[in-house]
Amino acid sequence: MTATPNTTAGNPAPPTALTIAGSDSGGGAGIQADLRTMFACGVHGMTAVTAVTVQNSVGVENFAEIPTEIVTAQIRAVVGDMGVGAAKTGMLATADIITAVAKTLDDVHIGRQTDTPFVVDPVAASMHGDPLLREEALEAIRSELFPRATLVTPNLDEVRLLTGVEVTDAASRREAADALLALGPEWVLVKGGHLDDGPTCVDLLSNGAEHIDLEGPRHDTPHTHGGGDTLASAITASLAHGADLRTAVRDGKRFIERSVAASYPLGRGIGPVSPFWRLDG
Ligand code: PLP
Repeated sequence: MTATPNTTAGNPAPPTALTIAGSDSGGGAGIQADLRTMFACGVHGMTAVTAVTVQNSVGVENFAEIPTEIVTAQIRAVVGDMGVGAAKTGMLATADIITAVAKTLDDVHIGRQTDTPFVVDPVAASMHGDPLLREEALEAIRSELFPRATLVTPNLDEVRLLTGVEVTDAASRREAADALLALGPEWVLVKGGHLDDGPTCVDLLSNGAEHIDLEGPRHDTPHTHGGGDTLASAITASLAHGADLRTAVRDGKRFIERSVAASYPLGRGIGPVSPFWRLDG
């Protein structure tokens, strides 16, 4: 069937963003969280699905990877037709998928050396500790994805896996940021959410020259499933709107703080963060 060219007048399209990530059957994290967040942020979200997880609030039971050529074909299909204002990665599952995605991003001009920002959320495991990345793929994240990233957003477990640095205080947070920047991204956001139990949590945003402490309130809730995905997607959406990196990260922080405050219990385990607050007016 021949496509009809879209030449008729209509509503202006919103900015677009692409998530290259896995599916969460429980609807709390992964591409489901990414699309919800992008929608709530006024962005048309598009997906290149990398893996399908069998998952609920209690944990990840299993996952199947999507063939690499299908992953990369999804990226090419949407970039070529609809255009991508900013992109992010979440669960990538295997070294083969990471290598193929990195090469495709170069071909379609997405990444820090291009005009299209690229956010890498180096997802390694679920909150329950279930692996979402094959172990040998960590090196591919370091060598293939980080040098192409405008921003990387690891949590403290991912920092330790990627750099060996154990973050316990402000000095080791800075050391971790430097170790991550040495791998090639333009900016790093070291998320301190899991560090201590004080009334606030501090994330460090750095590009090596600037070091910005971003402090936010800590919400006392166990229901934070999908929090990392939601933060990275909100940042990506803001970048798709044309915000500069520092503003986009502040926007993302505000978005995730409110989404954590609005989280709800669902199922027998960890409930999801919620972007529903955004619909309240
Ligand atoms: N499932 C998928 C498909 C994900 O992409 C992620 C996180 O990125 C998770 C699960 C884990 O989410 P959480 O650590 O918030 O439980």
